[in-house]
Amino acid sequence: MAEKVKVSCPNCGATNNYPLGLSGKKVVCGRCKYPLPEPGSLLELSAGQAPGFFQNSKLPILVDFFSPTCAPCHMMHPVVENFAKRRAGEIMVVRINVDQNPQLAAEFSVQGVPTFVILHKGYERGRTTGALPEADFALWVASKV
Ligand SMILES: [Zn+2]
Repeated sequence: MAEKVKVSCPNCGATNNYPLGLSGKKVVCGRCKYPLPEPGSLLELSAGQAPGFFQNSKLPILVDFFSPTCAPCHMMHPVVENFAKRRAGEIMVVRINVDQNPQLAAEFSVQGVPTFVILHKGYERGRTTGALPEADFALWVASKV
């Protein structure tokens, strides 16, 4: 029996059951045929995809607004990557480069980086700015979703 894990499609937001253990096989969205991200991976969305994804994903979303030139952002990358793996199937994790996506950063009123925003069904459930120790970060997210 193949284990299945829920993922939201980056393109249309539909919930898909992603079968684990199909190494090398591409899995596509049942609705729009867009290639699905492997569970536990970080998504990089285009500015065109992000609004629909944020609105339509039934799984909660953690958004990591970062800049490549920010040292605390780099400190948080492995923390966020570990978190995405641990919570695969429960929460989608998106990484947004604010230098490349200034309009998205402005829509979310991101003042500094790293800023973490938790979204569910189009609503913001919480945000925090600045680096956090791994345990505190996990507790903060758990308190919001
Ligand atoms: Zn889709």
